[in-house]
Parts: sequence; structure tokens; C-alpha cells
Amino acid sequence: MNITFHGAARNVTGSKHLVQLDNGVSILLDCGMFQGMGEQTEDLNDHFGFNPKKVDYMILSHAHIDHCGLIPRLVSQGFTGPIYCTSATLDLARILLMDSAKIQMQDVAYSNKHREKRGLPLLTALYTDEEAIAAMEQFKVVEYHQQYAITPDVKFHFSDAGHILGSAAVHLVITENGKETHITFSGDVGRYGDMLLKNPQRFPQAGRRTNELLQNRDSAGWHDRPVHGCRLSHGRRVGCDDRTGGRRRHEHVRLLEFGSRGVVDARRPAG
Ligand SMILES: [Zn+2]
Repeated sequence: MNITFHGAARNVTGSKHLVQLDNGVSILLDCGMFQGMGEQTEDLNDHFGFNPKKVDYMILSHAHIDHCGLIPRLVSQGFTGPIYCTSATLDLARILLMDSAKIQMQDVAYSNKHREKRGLPLLTALYTDEEAIAAMEQFKVVEYHQQYAITPDVKFHFSDAGHILGSAAVHLVITENGKETHITFSGDVGRYGDMLLKNPQRFPQAGRRTNELLQNRDSAGWHDRPVHGCRLSHGRRVGCDDRTGGRRRHEHVRLLEFGSRGVVDARRPAG
């Protein structure tokens, strides 16, 4: 199994984490847009760092744009699989992705006015509202705490992350070569005592034998990782946080693997 990190590592946006199994099945956790990365932003959003046509399944933790904002582009570039999320995430993602498509189209229209005058090649939007609508067809609702089998060897369930409506931590159980591996992807985790949202739930998978792979940005050692394709070895950490909404939010993007030691070999992607 390989796990590669294509965003939300050494930066605060663009959450995308690709789990590739030995049998060729690929599962993408989140497909977020990079935001506020200056001149790099456009390039980072243009190139996934992997081939969307080779992704089989997607699981979405929540509807913030830095976690779901590139789904229409993923679909327009060839991803045809289901996108699993909670029902509230589906409702919010529909609103946010349509809004994002309008922003992409307006920004490009504005830039192209000036580019046309100067005889420069015209730009195209990251995606259109039609592409956002088309992408919504691939969303599939899985309720909290409902075990769902993507394949006979890959199962997962959501628990409440308490971050926004519908936000979920993803708990995967993958059987590969006779060995069972448990991976928890927290997405963004909320705060305790919020007036509107439930408290984040505990991660029942995270037992004593947890091998921690990806932890919040305050952890030591995060800053030597590249933005795309972070290489991780057993027990190493990279960092992330989330400043959406204009205030600093402590983010815990955390992958937990246990049950077998050093099973994850994360390599820089070829694409
Ligand atoms: Zn968020």
C-alpha cells in the first residue's frame, strides 16, 4: 500500500490524500482546492500530481472548499467513481461548489478582458457551473457510523468530526495480502463545547498499537516535506492547519495506521 499526500501538507489548503493498494485500487481522501498560495496557486490547482482517470473511489471528509473544491475538475479530467460523503456534506457541497464555479468563471472573464486587449492567450476556468452540476451526480451518501464496503477488501465508516455540518472523520479497514490495516483520516476536527455543533467523537480505531503517520502542523518535523507527494515512513509526521473562515483553526489531519507495523510505504507519485 502506498499513501501519497497531494496537498494540506506544509501548507493549509488543497487537502488530497491518495491511498493506492497493491491490487491497483486507488482511493482519494478529499479533493480540496489550494487557496492563498500566491503565484503557485493556479499551478497547484491545475495539476493534481496524479491521474484522475486512475482514481477509483473518493471519500470526502467535509464541504469546505479546501477539501472539496477541485471535485468538478477531478470529474472533468476523467474520474468516474463514486464520491462518498454524509448527507449534510452533500447539501453543503452543492451550494459551495456552485458558488466556487461562479467565482472561477468570473475571475477568468475578468482576466481575459485584459488579456484580450494585450493579445495574450485567453484563460479557461478551473471548472464551470455545468461541470460542478455534473460532478454532483457522483456523490453518494453514507450516514455516520454506517459501515460501508467499497469493495470486499475495503470498508469504512464516518464518525462526527464536529467541525462543520456533516463533517466526518473517515475510518478505513483495508485487507491486503491477508493483513488488516486500519487507517483513520480525521479531516478537520472541531472544538469541544461549540454551541451549534456536536463535540468531535473519539476515534475508536486509535488503540494502543496506533502508528501515527500524519499529525497536526505543530508536530515536529513537518516542515521538511514537499507540498506534493510527501514521502512518509512509518511513524513520521507532517503538518497541516486550516485558516478557513478568516480565523485560525487548529486542524488535525491525521492518518492512523495500526495492526501492522510499517506497512505504509508512501512514495512520491509518478504523475
Ligand atoms: Zn474545514
